[in-house]
Amino acid sequence: ASMRPQVSVIIPVYNERENLDALTARLNAALQECLDESFEVVFVDDGSRDGSSEMLDELAALNRHYRVIHLSRNFGHQAALQAGIDAASGNAVVLMDADLQDPPEVLTEFIAKWQEGFDVVYAIRANRHEPIWKRAGYKMFYRTMNFIADIDTPLDAGDFCLMDRRVVDALVGLRERNRFLRGLRTWVGFKQIGIGFDRPLRNAGKPKY
Ligand code: UDP
Ligand code: MG
Repeated sequence: ASMRPQVSVIIPVYNERENLDALTARLNAALQECLDESFEVVFVDDGSRDGSSEMLDELAALNRHYRVIHLSRNFGHQAALQAGIDAASGNAVVLMDADLQDPPEVLTEFIAKWQEGFDVVYAIRANRHEPIWKRAGYKMFYRTMNFIADIDTPLDAGDFCLMDRRVVDALVGLRERNRFLRGLRTWVGFKQIGIGFDRPLRNAGKPKY
């Protein structure tokens, strides 16, 4: 019998000490509600220097679903996500930020769509609470990119998503080294669906990405 967990949740962490307690509390509640034991959470510590590294080790020592990968320095959000994807063993993989801008409660909807047969379920930011100049920047970025690129990345979709193992294996097989994951995720194909959610501001601390 396979020992694969149903779902692996990948969380990149760079100096998120103030968010880890709230994150794990909400995540545990969400996971227990929809998965009943068969899951793992892979934290990727991207060279944190604020005590997050030690905190993650302590959390993992107390929770058998948790694993921590410590990167040797800060490599950036996309590289941290990829390290987590490479290490994940689940039948589905979820990508989620550590600052609670990707609400763990949305997992229930991801899993429901996956069980309906979708290979990729990605979250669309329906309402952003960020300042207008930032939102204008995001809009311009996605519209410009879709104008230039051969394949359209869905507007206002971030990395927050669930991907079936088939999609994960396809991504792992790509040879790009400088990765824009949400673009590659669109490019690989399969049966995809977006679901809207209200993206809150980060829980605590400052954005670093
Ligand atoms: N992050 C990371 N490495 C970095 C910068 C950010 O692993 O060099 C993590 C960060 O801890 C968070 C996620 O990536 O979990 C998104 O970062 P952030 O909230 O700063 O970005 P934004 O929400 O502004 O896109
Ligand atoms: Mg954030």
